[in-house]
Amino acid sequence: MEQIRRTKVVELLQLEDFETTVNVKGWVRTRRGNKQVNFVALNDGSTIHNIQIVIDLGKFDDELLKPITTGACINVNGTYVESQGKGQKGEILAKEIEVFGTADPATYPLQKKGHSLEFLREIAHLRPRTNTFGAILRIRHHMAYAIHKYFNDKGFFYFHSPIITASDCEGAGSMFQATTLDLNNVPRDEFGEVNFKDDFFGKQANLTVSGQLEGELGAMSLGAIYTFGPTFRAENSNTPRHLAEFWMIEPEVAFNDVNDNMDLAEDFLKYLIAYALENCKDDIEFLNEMFDKELIERLKFVLSNDFVRLTYTEGVDILEKSGEKFEFPVYWGADLQSEHERYLVEKHFKRPVILTDYPKEIKSFYMKQNEDGKTVRGMDVLFPKIGEIIGGSERESDYDKLMKRVDELGMNVDPIWWYIESRKFGTAPHSGFGLGFERLILFVTGMANIRDVIPFPRTPNNVEF
Ligand code: ATP
Ligand code: MN
Repeated sequence: MEQIRRTKVVELLQLEDFETTVNVKGWVRTRRGNKQVNFVALNDGSTIHNIQIVIDLGKFDDELLKPITTGACINVNGTYVESQGKGQKGEILAKEIEVFGTADPATYPLQKKGHSLEFLREIAHLRPRTNTFGAILRIRHHMAYAIHKYFNDKGFFYFHSPIITASDCEGAGSMFQATTLDLNNVPRDEFGEVNFKDDFFGKQANLTVSGQLEGELGAMSLGAIYTFGPTFRAENSNTPRHLAEFWMIEPEVAFNDVNDNMDLAEDFLKYLIAYALENCKDDIEFLNEMFDKELIERLKFVLSNDFVRLTYTEGVDILEKSGEKFEFPVYWGADLQSEHERYLVEKHFKRPVILTDYPKEIKSFYMKQNEDGKTVRGMDVLFPKIGEIIGGSERESDYDKLMKRVDELGMNVDPIWWYIESRKFGTAPHSGFGLGFERLILFVTGMANIRDVIPFPRTPNNVEF
């Protein structure tokens, strides 16, 4: 075949230069036609749209054309011409074709359109080839880029918090252990306890559940940082909103109080949604058409409305008076469930809500304590269809108050001595939050299950691929 520089489909679809010779490579979506001419819809992942390859059957050997079936990968040289048909500007009249890889129609699973999302999860190695997952994964990329761009433009520094950690602040139950011990022959000490002295790090280590504690140290030196990395939670909750491995974005800012923190969260989310609407138009329009007819409307609605801000206490009051039957009871002190959060957002206020000042018992030890002795300066951002999308707080910066809380909770400070020390040396007010990346992608794509917005989801009993 003649060597011609490859043009991506996304660029071809913009091309006005008709009658030029081009090369395109991609995967066959469909092939149809008659005895004289065949039409191949070719996709290379660069866009949701296909380019049409027109094959004059008289000009090619039958044997060459036979394996050009759905799923096959081909390399085509041809003339880019103005299209005769509707729905596309140009198409390619094939001059030379090479088959890179065949896909046996008897076994290639993505033959017909309209597979269920459940089925596609079982073939996660192939589902990125579908329109749906192509769209989701391109949006995922653009959102990751926009996150870095947002913070970079605002003078935040990307701070790499560790993935393996010895601190266990969020409760051992939800952590995956990182160990090189032989599980069939675990060394034990004189009390019969596992002897971690023989383990790789000489002590018990885990995969991180949050980069926040380290992120705070970044903020207390660089001023404003964000982390963006994988996070692991061994929570055995099989919900459409929880993964065992997910990505989290955690900005942390020195001198920000809880109100600054809310302003940042709202501005950040709106920036990302606006970015998606502007830069992922084709993919969002496709998902709007196929899965969620209110998607675009919902995205625009969030952009054009202020988030409602109220206290947890006020929120619980509204829920108690709502007369709504909830599966989980609601009372002051209860940890709000997604049904409660969604009631406030979807039924009561009909827009995103930021709840603040939660009871200290249901929040982490590091949140700034309020004067009332009962609540802390936490803030959760609640979104339609999702519930909690962001969890954050102003942090307790006072050494004595922090230590008092640590003691009340009977926490072991050994693994976080370095965190506690930050309150002894030049402490300052500071705030931050965590945005679950996949929850954001759920919102922006309109998908309903978090397993469908990450290439290879990890959930209880599922670590395939
Ligand atoms: P939830 O109550 O929904 O379990 P959380 O209170 O445990 O959330 P945080 O510890 O505050 O959440 O984590 C910050 C953010 O990370 C959450 O707002 C959410 O967007 C995301 N997140 C938390 N757990 C998961 C998970 N298992 N899978 C995906 N995203 C998650
Ligand atoms: Mn959780």
